[in-house]
Amino acid sequence: MTATLIDGRAAAERLRQRVAARTAELAATGLVPGLAVVLVGDDPASQIYVGSKTKQAQETGIRHFDHRLPATTGTQELIALVRRLNTDADVHGILVQLPLPRGVDDSAVLAAIDPTKDVDGFHAVNAGKLALGEDATVPCTPLGCLILLREAMPSLAGKRALVIGRSNIVGKPMAQLLLQNDCTVTIAHSKTQDLPALCGESDIVVAAIGRPKAIAGQWLKPGAVVIDVGINRVTIDGKSRVVGDVDFASASERAGAITPVPGGVGPMTIACLLMNTVNAAIRSRGGTDLLRP
Ligand code: NAD
Repeated sequence: MTATLIDGRAAAERLRQRVAARTAELAATGLVPGLAVVLVGDDPASQIYVGSKTKQAQETGIRHFDHRLPATTGTQELIALVRRLNTDADVHGILVQLPLPRGVDDSAVLAAIDPTKDVDGFHAVNAGKLALGEDATVPCTPLGCLILLREAMPSLAGKRALVIGRSNIVGKPMAQLLLQNDCTVTIAHSKTQDLPALCGESDIVVAAIGRPKAIAGQWLKPGAVVIDVGINRVTIDGKSRVVGDVDFASASERAGAITPVPGGVGPMTIACLLMNTVNAAIRSRGGTDLLRP
């Protein structure tokens, strides 16, 4: 391996420490950041994610309010809960864990969240502000990617960046963040022609596809920085393993720096959620001294 490993666990720990320090300062002034977490149904992966989020919130001094609802909960019932949380002064952030059960209108539920409490950054108001370059709550995963990227590449200006994937929660906001940081950005997707050629001319590759090892190391420009967002469960030698969208073995021989899976982007996502929650609390009383990524 020649690439530098970008350590997401260490970066997330540093961010959590900043969050904890700011939370303690706020608490001393009577403002305890509060995060409401809404989990519908019994999807095992969602239960694990929500468990990690509430545990880390607790460890950083953020108060959390758990709302665990049966899979039979309907759209209107969920919207009513969101509206109650919108008006609850102890709640600064609202997180509705996705995916919601089949039949629930997730767009309607997410649209009901007060944009100032939208700590996932999925609301159209925050997506619009991000696109306009205004002060927005940015989705946690791309925010985490940006922090990791800056560790490996302090100056992003003028760099050729390739985002592979165009989802609303990862690909599109990632492209916006890179644009804001003065990169020249290309977005690739399932209909893109000649992905290897695009990879070969990119200084930065962010892969958010959801296909195990889809990006071959040989495609990369030598020295490129690779951020692998993918979380793919596969069975290798009879054992269940998690791998990224990038073929780590070949990519780490060619890239300049690369995030591992696990231990790269994943830990940053929750740390950024905590940062967004603290910032929502600060904004709730008109403060501007936000935690910056
Ligand atoms: P998604 O399914 O919503 O979007 C996938 C995107 O990949 C689509 O835009 C599609 O056009 C594109 N795509 C699919 N096949 C392609 C191909 N062969 N070539 C180029 N583009 C292709 O997925 P998502 O929600 O954006 O998530 C992407 C991956 O990131 C998944 O593995 C997901 O589990 C992971 N993820 C990780 C975190 C984290 O915290 N680390 C958070 C969110 C998502």
